[in-house]
Amino acid sequence: MSLPSHVRLVEVGPRDGLQNEKQPIGVADKVRLIDDLSAAGLGYIEVGSFVSPKWVPQMAGSAEVFAGIDQRPGVTYAALTPNLQGLEAALAAGVREVAVFAAASEAFSQRNINCSIAESLKRFEPVMAAAQDHGIRVRGYVSCVLGCPYDGAIQAQQVAVVSRELQAMGCYEVSLGDTIGVGTAGAVRNLFEVVGREVPRECLAGHFHDTYGQALANIYASLLEGIAVFDSSVAGLGGCPYARGATGNVASEDVVYLLEGLGIETGVDLPGLIKAGQRISQVLGRDSASRVARARSALE
Ligand code: MG
Repeated sequence: MSLPSHVRLVEVGPRDGLQNEKQPIGVADKVRLIDDLSAAGLGYIEVGSFVSPKWVPQMAGSAEVFAGIDQRPGVTYAALTPNLQGLEAALAAGVREVAVFAAASEAFSQRNINCSIAESLKRFEPVMAAAQDHGIRVRGYVSCVLGCPYDGAIQAQQVAVVSRELQAMGCYEVSLGDTIGVGTAGAVRNLFEVVGREVPRECLAGHFHDTYGQALANIYASLLEGIAVFDSSVAGLGGCPYARGATGNVASEDVVYLLEGLGIETGVDLPGLIKAGQRISQVLGRDSASRVARARSALE
């Protein structure tokens, strides 16, 4: 199969990334990060999450962040809304696209959100209905698609079932997440092969973590399977709670570098993206986890 000529990047750093950083950062720093990202050409930014700050203190202030950012035309600013209350808060904040999430693993679903996969999907029904009423697009995430910290191996068919459910409920796109970063390229190809029988590939995205250093290989394997949407996190924001000291989401800079090398368009300006990553890394008081950013800053 030939490679896609254009890839859409979904920047998850401000949400998935910062949510998994130990240190909460303030609204002003989040606003600056998001504005830096849109200025660098990212067309889709997951800005925050409308959940109880009791559970996810890092995501407190998402409404203020939405109010503070400079919303550029043509850029999608999305929020995670796990329940109807969250969706209503997001709507009140002017959010026009949201995301919901389910796990491919029963044990992960129980431990992470305290209910079965079926129950979690049931909970999204009112969210989907309300989103439809308001003309809001909903993106779906499936976590633990290539392995689970509690259940171990995950069958691709199980991922296919959950993905098909999310699509049937109204998600226009389903992002398959290797939450613990254990997947390798062959497993990724098999995953899209199997899931692609239930959900059209143009409605699937890849969300890879670099815990085992496999994320870029897995993205390349996905490209070969015709996948053209990838989630990534500037500066590799977000640790991995299941592997100490490991990085989390694949760094956006590294993905852009890979795609540029393949002649695939992303619309992203790599130097601008590197700057955005360096700025937020400084706020967090550490080096960027992007290998490309580190290599380029060594040249400066
Ligand atoms: Mg992630």
